[in-house]
Amino acid sequence: MEIISIKTMQEKASCLRCEKKRIGFVPTMGALHQGHLSLIKAAKEENDVVVVSIFVNPIQFLHGEDYEMYPITMEEDKKLCRQMGVDVIFHPDAAEMYPEKLLTTINVSEITSRLCGSFRPGHFQGVTTVVTKLFHIVKPHVAYFGQKDYQQAIVIKKMVKDLNFDVEIRMLPIVREGDMLTGKDACPASGAGLALSSRNAYLNPDEKAQAGILFQTLQTAKKMLDDGERDGHKLSDWMAKNLQNAPLVLVEYAEVCDPETLEPLSQVRMGAVLALAVRIGKTRLIDNMVWEQEEREEREKKGSRSKRCGS
Ligand code: AMP
Repeated sequence: MEIISIKTMQEKASCLRCEKKRIGFVPTMGALHQGHLSLIKAAKEENDVVVVSIFVNPIQFLHGEDYEMYPITMEEDKKLCRQMGVDVIFHPDAAEMYPEKLLTTINVSEITSRLCGSFRPGHFQGVTTVVTKLFHIVKPHVAYFGQKDYQQAIVIKKMVKDLNFDVEIRMLPIVREGDMLTGKDACPASGAGLALSSRNAYLNPDEKAQAGILFQTLQTAKKMLDDGERDGHKLSDWMAKNLQNAPLVLVEYAEVCDPETLEPLSQVRMGAVLALAVRIGKTRLIDNMVWEQEEREEREKKGSRSKRCGS
């Protein structure tokens, strides 16, 4: 496993492309956990070479956010990458990525002003700008993103489509506490179902226990949809109220939105995204669920039931 600079990375990527090697890329900010590892695993399975970037990108943090205190666990990250069979870690420092004042940025409009965008103005511009730089450096055929950051994945997909980037974007499911039975993230007693995030490390035990309300809220809202509720505003209101049952939780948003435009839906349809953002103490947490599976399963069940009735 190599750990390399921008120039070396670019040269290596060009060589690999000439050799017709397929490059899979997993961009991260480090402090790796099972969520990141699920992306790396998929990249390993689907490509000849896997590159993981570890870069805490200063321009996607707003003034007063946690850039300075963002967890860094480089030695552990290297160990995990080695165990996962990662070929290259791209780990530039901020001075290498931003050697001079940046006059060029990438901005995706509309979908970046909704959900997290309205609470973190400028955040997505920082994300799309760094991802563009990373794509130009790593030259991947496929890049892997987590549904955990649903809006981020949608914004990047739109940027790639609008600007004809030669890369395929894959969005993989959220890994949650309790999804795995062993390892440092296994902690079924507290915050069950909590989406894994490097920021969970900020939570004290009380906060972590209350953070379980996010997943519980999503699950119940999904059940309400499965049971026939279609009023998006009613569902959003219910989710916000339910989150407030946890005394340490401060709700930023609780929305039911269109999966592409991220606009709030008054009439919920299949594929809709239930999206939450809260603050618990000093920690900001996000989570989401796509309403898809159950409805399809439900229809299939109904279908087989009516077939059985008819036969
Ligand atoms: P980060 O290091 O937080 O910037 O995340 C890097 C990538 O890992 C992003 O595409 C995230 O969406 C993804 N990711 C983070 N947490 C999870 C999770 N719990 N499950 C799946 N993907 C995740």
